[in-house]
Amino acid sequence: MRLKLLSQLIGLFLVALASLAPAQSPPQQSAPSRADILRGEYGPWRANNDLLSYDLDIRVDPEKKFISGKNTIRFKMLKDDTRIQLDLFANLNVDKILLGSTELKYTRELGTVFVDFPAPLKKNSVQSIEFYYSGSPQETGRFGGISFRKDPAGRHWVTTACQGVGASVWWPNKDQQQDEVENMRLHVTIPSALTDVSNGRLVAKTDLGDGYTRYDWAISYPINNYCVSLNIGHYEHFSDKLGDLTMDFYCLPENLEKARRQFAQAKPMIEAFQKYFGEYPFKRDGYKLIEAPYSGMEHQSAVTYGNHFANGYLERDWTGVGVSLKFDFIIIHESAHEWFGNSITGSDISDMWIHEGWATYAECVYVEAMFGREDALKYVNGYKSKVKNQQPIITTRGVNQTPSQDQYFKGALFLNTLRSVIDDDTRWWKLIRAYYNRFKYHNIMTEDLVAFFNQQTGRNLTPIFDQYLRRSALPTLELRFQEGGGVSYRWKTDVKDFAMPVKVGRSANWQANAQLPPVRHDPRSAGWQTITPTTEWQTMKTELKREEFEAATDLYYIDVVKY
Ligand SMILES: [Zn+2]
Repeated sequence: MRLKLLSQLIGLFLVALASLAPAQSPPQQSAPSRADILRGEYGPWRANNDLLSYDLDIRVDPEKKFISGKNTIRFKMLKDDTRIQLDLFANLNVDKILLGSTELKYTRELGTVFVDFPAPLKKNSVQSIEFYYSGSPQETGRFGGISFRKDPAGRHWVTTACQGVGASVWWPNKDQQQDEVENMRLHVTIPSALTDVSNGRLVAKTDLGDGYTRYDWAISYPINNYCVSLNIGHYEHFSDKLGDLTMDFYCLPENLEKARRQFAQAKPMIEAFQKYFGEYPFKRDGYKLIEAPYSGMEHQSAVTYGNHFANGYLERDWTGVGVSLKFDFIIIHESAHEWFGNSITGSDISDMWIHEGWATYAECVYVEAMFGREDALKYVNGYKSKVKNQQPIITTRGVNQTPSQDQYFKGALFLNTLRSVIDDDTRWWKLIRAYYNRFKYHNIMTEDLVAFFNQQTGRNLTPIFDQYLRRSALPTLELRFQEGGGVSYRWKTDVKDFAMPVKVGRSANWQANAQLPPVRHDPRSAGWQTITPTTEWQTMKTELKREEFEAATDLYYIDVVKY
């Protein structure tokens, strides 16, 4: 008992410190560079046009690590103007930019290409320019951006994974998230011994007679730039079907048996996501899962995979609670982005939790569908060990800075909390399904999502969203115990008007041996009740002693301080 009390005291001290620290010295994000503004801002020469389509036609020479070709960019002008902003990494050459037969002038600044027209393009007119380029793109960033590698057998393996870095690391485009083309054609010419697997449907494969073969892919949905992907290698192929959804799998020849075994997880996963969120979003283009030399990426209709054909994440128990070894983290997480990230897209990188928080929560939904609610609760709470609570999840709009990793882990824990706030599972599943269906194929900001949740629930959830997403610290439930029974309670939060229900009751393990793993709360059991603290003190009667009284912290991601 002494030990327990001591540990509680230490815990209380640490919690108090943790909740003080961010308020006293908020960690500053470094000042954005000119490059971050150019890439991140939806400036006047981006906002003056609306993308219609890309037709990217390139030749890739793996031996020379060289790309050349053109992107035909169709767009509609939204106002009269003489300039638009496109992007291409500075180390790649702009060979020429044509409007019809007219060669256009352009100005380059870092990764940006400002294209100037000799006469104003009229509002509502549809324009088409051909952007010719060439060069040796450089491998950069967490996933390589674009990499010219060899597979373990020494054969060429050229892949792209350019989220964050930007698609303009290997092809010219309007490199931002707010505006997507309606559809795209992708023509990839490569040495005939190799295969290219890209997004969409393969509509033609043509031997050009010069040792090269051209693969023509048609993408029949809007697509993020960073999802456009090359996977050029010696691929084996096998396929399956889920109803009328085609499922195609590609791996190196040596991994065929392992892939057949591991990729079998894709079908029940898609069934689970269809049940909880809605139909697979890119049915016309099919679902593909493609081996790649990095861990994985959510390339639309062409998810890439490099998770060693093993469960967990890179063979680790990802959330450390024994659940993630039951499934392949990369297949589940990256494919979840088909719904959250590719179909619903955040308009600005500052709101990237719309992709990552939701895809991470979708992992938990998958766990619940496959292994049950207990495992799902264990799994999501396992993410607590990864959360830092040092920076808000939502960062400064219009700046090309990836938010902190809290966008994944705290994002998922927040959605788990929101489910407890709704406190009705039938309503919760209806609500997130309605959310997905309302915004599928749209580019949105958090404000859109919050307005939808407020409207659907008839509640003002904005202060809750704001505290979790726009502030660093967690809400702290302060409990002040009174002599002779009773407890006062309130939320300590940065956001005013914060009011969030929370379940409290008798701790199942308050007397348990400290050596045993903690017994999780069962708020359905007798003696538990929902209270709605605000930032003002309220008092309730309770027979529970200080040590017995507990909040359901696996249903609500909160700090608790007892006085
Ligand atoms: Zn992700």
